[in-house]
Amino acid sequence: MLISACLLGQNVRYDGNNLGLDSLSFQRLSELVEFVAICPEVSGGLPTPRTPAEIIQGVGLDVIEQRIQVITQTGEDVTDAFILGAQNALDLCKRNNIRAAVLTDSSPSCGSSKIYNGEFDGKKVAGHGVTTALLRQHGIAVFSQFELENIIEFVNS
Ligand code: SF4
Repeated sequence: MLISACLLGQNVRYDGNNLGLDSLSFQRLSELVEFVAICPEVSGGLPTPRTPAEIIQGVGLDVIEQRIQVITQTGEDVTDAFILGAQNALDLCKRNNIRAAVLTDSSPSCGSSKIYNGEFDGKKVAGHGVTTALLRQHGIAVFSQFELENIIEFVNS
């Protein structure tokens, strides 16, 4: 199973921190699957720490289909790095025969149910990130870290 590297405790978030999981559900899932970790943004060439970026007026699929961009808070266009990171995540899934992923919600790369609204005001809207869009386009099931029980059901089905 693919996993966002920050959920495995790797300090790859934009602020240099992580969101490491240690719940009982996560421990149960860890016994059922082998995790393969990636941070799409780092994989796409961005540094840690890095300036926060958001998808401007759309969702990850719009970025993949080159309709809109991912822009940092200081106005830099990082669309290419986000798309490269998504492609690297997909390649990793193909090489390891991975059919499901648990990715960090709200991220412009990894979000699966919510993302920030593109105005850097801290507000979230329904949507998904760039990596999630590409994985789903290729039939890979993407869950958030808030759906661990659903993932365990998926793995056991
Ligand atoms: S891109 Fe994904 S893996 Fe990397 S820090 Fe953001 S949420 Fe975590």
